[in-house]
Amino acid sequence: MVSTESPMVADRQLASLSAQAAPPPPCLVCGREGLEVFLDLGPTPLANAFRLPEETGADPCFPLRIARCPHCHHAQLAGSVPPEKMFTDYLYVSSYSETLVAHLDSLASAVTARRHLGKNDLAVDIGSNDGTLLSSFARRGVRVAGVEPARNLAALARARGIETEACYFDRFAAQKIRQAYGPAMAVTATNSFPHIQDLDEYLRALDLLLDPRGVFVIEAHYLGDMLDQTAFDTIYHEHVSYWSLGPMKRLFERHGLQIFDVERLPIHHGQLRVWAARAGAARTEPSVERLLAAEREAGFSSRLPFDRFAERASRIRSGLGRLLGGLRSRGATVAGYGAPAKATTLLSYLGLGPDTITYIADRSPLKQGRLVPGARIPIVSPSELLTSRPDYVLILAWNFVDEIMAQLAGYRRAGGRFIVPVPEARILD
Ligand code: ZN
Repeated sequence: MVSTESPMVADRQLASLSAQAAPPPPCLVCGREGLEVFLDLGPTPLANAFRLPEETGADPCFPLRIARCPHCHHAQLAGSVPPEKMFTDYLYVSSYSETLVAHLDSLASAVTARRHLGKNDLAVDIGSNDGTLLSSFARRGVRVAGVEPARNLAALARARGIETEACYFDRFAAQKIRQAYGPAMAVTATNSFPHIQDLDEYLRALDLLLDPRGVFVIEAHYLGDMLDQTAFDTIYHEHVSYWSLGPMKRLFERHGLQIFDVERLPIHHGQLRVWAARAGAARTEPSVERLLAAEREAGFSSRLPFDRFAERASRIRSGLGRLLGGLRSRGATVAGYGAPAKATTLLSYLGLGPDTITYIADRSPLKQGRLVPGARIPIVSPSELLTSRPDYVLILAWNFVDEIMAQLAGYRRAGGRFIVPVPEARILD
């Protein structure tokens, strides 16, 4: 955390960190030393630091290395960037993706039904973004409160009537919410849990907020899916943790929580939905032991699956590089579609810029007119893509490939072709 230091001093320290790649810190889950780096993506800009073209100067880059703990087997970044640098102004807005809006509505539905939430119950969403999930709870008659450190998103949520604290979730925030609204029967964290750098503080805060009968429901990108899909581009500085169930269970048990159910979901790149309650408050479903057994079988306690993942990532880099280089030498035009955070990692790891990908179309008006960090490729509205008709579209938001191909049906009918980078670089038929 940056404390009393001036931003300039902190920037210089971070810059020197990037030059030297400091030794790995202790494990986020068990606190022990000895993290083993299995993939080094090189100095990489912050994934969501989309800048305006008139902002000059190089985008700051920081080391991006993913490691595993040989003791508790938790996969995590070897080194972190202060959260204030990443989450104060945030351009990822939940309500811009129809798939995500529908998904979050189904989560609100599942939690409300499972815990029989009614008008006296409180649901708190941590990392509540623009209030999309909470508005689904509110529609079902549940009281809601959000916690969202990005001030621009908290303001969007408040504008739609969702009470939102613009802060990080810590004991102070938990106490404040509890005093204002009472204890929470449901606490949710969708995609924000992998961001947490101080897990012990977070779970102590949860302990203050959660009703004795309450549930804590997390959705987080699943390590198993990341490895299966070779989704190396989902590695970026915001995501300090790459969760599997084993380490999460150990962490939760240390904080008096019991994981009583787990589901694997197809959303994004494959996610875990983890249901937890206070220890002893729920009957554990067989799903928990089943997934733990699958993780043992997949060898998550050994180095092997991680080293293989790193080899495949390296093969995608060379394969996609060759594919795009070949198209460029034949004079074909290539644009990108979708400027999610992971595009920054992918383009940085491949060293791609506007000479290869002329522009990237994205539906988010907050991103249009800005540049992808590092690559400095301009982001435009999707209508531009339909007008300029590039020969190929590289789908950078590859987890939404079906949604995107449906949106671009006209482009495809007119002869346009699609390239997906992951899990294998290829041109779609
Ligand atoms: Zn550990």
